[in-house]
Amino acid sequence: VSPQEVVSASLQRIAQLEPRLHALIRLNPQAEQEAALVEQRLARGEHLPLAGVPVVLKDNICTQDLATTCGSRMLADFVPPYSATVVEKLRQAGAVVVAKANMDEFAMGSSTEYSAFGPTRNPWDTERVPGGTSGGSAAAVAAGMVPLALGTDTGGSVRQPAALCGVYGFKPTYGRISRYGVVATASSLDQVGTMARTVQDLALLSDVVSGYDPMDSTSLEIQAQFAAALQASSRGLTIGLVKEALAVGNSPGVLEALERFRSVMEAQGVRFVEVSLPSLEYALAAYYIVNTAEISSNLARYDGTLYGLRVPGEDSTTTMMQSREHGFGPEVQRRILMGTFVLSSGYYEAYYGKALRARARIKADFDRAFSQADLLLTPTSPFPAFRLGEKTTDPLSMYLADIDTVAVNLAGLPAMSIPAGFEGHLPVGVQLIGKALHDEQIFVAANAFE
Ligand code: GLN
Repeated sequence: VSPQEVVSASLQRIAQLEPRLHALIRLNPQAEQEAALVEQRLARGEHLPLAGVPVVLKDNICTQDLATTCGSRMLADFVPPYSATVVEKLRQAGAVVVAKANMDEFAMGSSTEYSAFGPTRNPWDTERVPGGTSGGSAAAVAAGMVPLALGTDTGGSVRQPAALCGVYGFKPTYGRISRYGVVATASSLDQVGTMARTVQDLALLSDVVSGYDPMDSTSLEIQAQFAAALQASSRGLTIGLVKEALAVGNSPGVLEALERFRSVMEAQGVRFVEVSLPSLEYALAAYYIVNTAEISSNLARYDGTLYGLRVPGEDSTTTMMQSREHGFGPEVQRRILMGTFVLSSGYYEAYYGKALRARARIKADFDRAFSQADLLLTPTSPFPAFRLGEKTTDPLSMYLADIDTVAVNLAGLPAMSIPAGFEGHLPVGVQLIGKALHDEQIFVAANAFE
């Protein structure tokens, strides 16, 4: 089949399912022309690892000449003057961006219900959420609109929706995928992540988008070897079961999936040991302090002046206030207020300073655990997909959906959500966490399980 045929099949599938799922914010009107160009490049003999493969991008990844909204009224009309490095890398590899995917506003949330453009529905059960904040990307992959998608993961936003939609979701070690051209939420936590329905597809995509980028000062100079890692055997690996993550309130299907993962892997020669991360209990609190602090500073740029929504007032102060009030939804406003509070003088030491110390202890706990095991196993989410509206009235209950994922971002580690079973008709994922820079080892294990 030709790139044009593949892309038009993807567009047909989107046309068929999008009215029910609302996984996307905008189609790329150039997709078919771009597929034709890929066809010409193939004819010239170019080597294109993702020739004609349709992908969707979370809508906080900048695409030149194609609106990038961040799921917000603030950026509803923002058309970036350049593309993110990951988008350039995808195009070089021959992939075709067919659409921008729905997301929680500015990547804050766990259900994609905080999008200013309305929620996305879970393809397995349209009364339920797809998870978030990359819920549009996960739903698009799960529904077969596209085989590959990019999301971003600040506290679990690739892994948790992947788990709730029954697909693979990978967040690399901090610095392995460029953040250039990705709209910042909380810069010390943000990473681009990959989604696919198989480990092989996930590895191909991860190879293409990873690598050093001089435009991102936190980018690492490491050669990606994800596809190559699939040749390696998992025999002899040791996986640590994280005691604290298994102890608390996991639903029955999640516990079964963990058991199943363990028995399949043991049959492949993988050894399991119990490890302890005593500081894990502080992860959620530390995360929501660091996250909101960085959000309050990063989102200060939306002042109604340079770009983004402008609601003019009689002077610049009222213009700024009105633009931010109308541009940002309630969760974004809540985070900016919290972040401003934890950074304010007099409270800085009590909150932000303490959160940084907790972050250091969590990192140290991981280091200790990794002296006993190559990889760590936890649930990705304590429960499968919840109902639309179930958690929107209580922000704290929404924050609890991240209990298994946020520590990984605080420590900058790589992790993957692996589809590992069902609870009733709803998919369940397990999470494998790797040592910093040993991202490929996660793929070795995931491949053995698949
Ligand atoms: N749910 C988490 C939050 O709201 C994670 C978000 C993310 O990873 N972007 O902060």
